[in-house]
Amino acid sequence: MNAILRGVRVIDPLGRLDAAGQDVWVDGGKILAIYHHIEAAGVPVVDLTPADGADACVLCPSFIDLHAHLRQPGDDEAETLESGSRAAAAGGYTHVVAMANTMPPIDTPERVAEARLAASNLPVSILQVAALTLGLEGVALVDIRRCIEAGAVALGDDGRNGVSPRQLAIALAETAHLSRAVFVHPEDEEMIAQANATQGPVTRSPIRPVATETRAVNLAIRALSHARTGNLHLQHLSCEGSVASLRRARHQGLAVSAEVTPHHLSMWVPVAEEPDPQALRKVNPPLRAERDRVALVQALREGLIEAVATDHAPHRAAEKALAYGDAAPGMIGLETALATCITIGGMGGEWLATLVERMTVGPYRILGPGSGIPEPRLRIGEAATCTLFDPAAEWTVGASPLQSRSRNTPLLGATLRGTVLLTMSGGHVIHRDPARVPVTSEQVGSA
Ligand SMILES: [Zn+2]
Repeated sequence: MNAILRGVRVIDPLGRLDAAGQDVWVDGGKILAIYHHIEAAGVPVVDLTPADGADACVLCPSFIDLHAHLRQPGDDEAETLESGSRAAAAGGYTHVVAMANTMPPIDTPERVAEARLAASNLPVSILQVAALTLGLEGVALVDIRRCIEAGAVALGDDGRNGVSPRQLAIALAETAHLSRAVFVHPEDEEMIAQANATQGPVTRSPIRPVATETRAVNLAIRALSHARTGNLHLQHLSCEGSVASLRRARHQGLAVSAEVTPHHLSMWVPVAEEPDPQALRKVNPPLRAERDRVALVQALREGLIEAVATDHAPHRAAEKALAYGDAAPGMIGLETALATCITIGGMGGEWLATLVERMTVGPYRILGPGSGIPEPRLRIGEAATCTLFDPAAEWTVGASPLQSRSRNTPLLGATLRGTVLLTMSGGHVIHRDPARVPVTSEQVGSA
């Protein structure tokens, strides 16, 4: 691609750059120059200059998602690596961390290697988490060393949390030597089983009070303090109490990080209008009260929570059409993450640069240097890995087909602000809005 993107705001958190009114010249997949005005003979100009007082389009390093379920192997009808990676590119992501709870689960070095092979040659880099315990059953730890040698970017039983604090401490100590974090889905399975009279799987049990999460958060933090080493990462925090526990642990100097999802930043119950089917809002952990949502937004703004992670969880329509108690938990999120955070997640306006940091540098730091992800930076003369978005442009979710194979989001039909205009990975255009970035296919084709 060879074009000058005119009048954009350039945000590069690690480069300490946040500059409005810039022209960005992209040629041959590289950013050739960023300057307040660029003219180059014969180079097409894509004029993105905002109207007076309007928010400018933003060019920033591309997004990194710490948490996605891509359903392959096992449920190609809900999602494939291919469709999931197209959804990611449309959402501005170039790196996506895939969870291990596929069918079969990724719980051996051989399966890690297979998953990595299956994910090669996609437009987006898919990084694989290995399960922490065999079958995610919480009993026997996987062969941690060999799973990491096979390419696992982190360890974690996401979806489940059956591991004992003692086993978790052992895992934290072992992964510390190998520079990987342990991801924990903090919901106490014993308490959930007690709260729900059903015999069904704990993953679908609908009653999950805040105490089920805060207890699991506290146990995981205690395991970390016993291990005295390792990096604990708490997934999808959903309540005020968890934020308080996280804050205490940080004050004690413990190496614990956390993520929040766009849906927990933006939605709460009681909802204004129930989605149809109602189970479209069923997710683990559940959407909670407004005060919880406010605490999460505040924690993300101040950096106590370092990352936004989608927990993209596609499901076949039939899995969501069941009665609320029986339906599968989770919602898709890769294509709506940015707009959700901007429009209803408290991260638009003056918080936009912070949001960019939490979707790029935050996740990068949590994964650590062992991830192999290039530093999220905008570097002149290097192959561009970047995202261009318009924080003010409105769109209606689902009005044009989503890239994901699934449509399970309560946001269907909602009008949000924030559209991704261009995503580039390693110099290649992997997503482009042809109406807003109208360069010829020839110009796009050149790497
Ligand atoms: Zn989870």
